[in-house]
Amino acid sequence: MAKLEIARVPVLSDNYVWLVHDHASGETVAVDPAVAQPVLDAASDRGWRITQIWNTHWHPDHTGGNAEIKAATGCTISGPAAEKAKIPTLDIELGEGDHARIGTHRADVIEVPAHTAGHIAYHLPEDAAVFVGDTLFAMGCGRLFEGNAAQMFANMRRLAALPPETTVYCAHEYTQANGRYARVAEPDNVAIATRMTEVDAARARGEATVPTTIALERATNPFMRARSVEELAERRAAKDSFRG
Ligand code: ZN
Ligand code: FE
Repeated sequence: MAKLEIARVPVLSDNYVWLVHDHASGETVAVDPAVAQPVLDAASDRGWRITQIWNTHWHPDHTGGNAEIKAATGCTISGPAAEKAKIPTLDIELGEGDHARIGTHRADVIEVPAHTAGHIAYHLPEDAAVFVGDTLFAMGCGRLFEGNAAQMFANMRRLAALPPETTVYCAHEYTQANGRYARVAEPDNVAIATRMTEVDAARARGEATVPTTIALERATNPFMRARSVEELAERRAAKDSFRG
């Protein structure tokens, strides 16, 4: 199977929209379009036409471009069935075990509730890619707005069990702030210290620090590395009030 081409589109202050292009079918998916015009422009700059939108959750910085992109392209919008009421533009409702497709490439839908009650991730096993929205970040996890630490702990376990080489496409550039907390959470973790040196240098050059990989998160993410629900809950609460 030919490789998908995946482009990062930075929008708003720290959001990343991902454009996934399949050369074989000519299809293009916009994952979590916070806004419309910069995403439409990024696609047309590459000669791509957006045929689908995949939403991970209802938050406006993930769905704000839905209506305008659909009006401009006639694309089909897929997203979490459980959040249909909050995503009125949804065409296809997805839940655990459902699939989304781009050309012949298949995404398995994984329910990862906690940041929002219906949050889903899209895992493309044959492409070694996962789109995690606001559930997993580089060295971080999403805030628990509509769920609890037990749910997020289960989410971390599930994502950690994906093949280590899987590329993780998260929806925000939060790495530096996450890493400052990670260093405090695990002061003896050499992998975190090493990664932060690289992250600080990349940010100083104005470069993005995502995507990441499951292997790197298993080594450096204090939420994925939490050994119990209680430890994840403690770390989440500490990060929420952390001023590094
Ligand atoms: Zn969110
Ligand atoms: Fe977000």
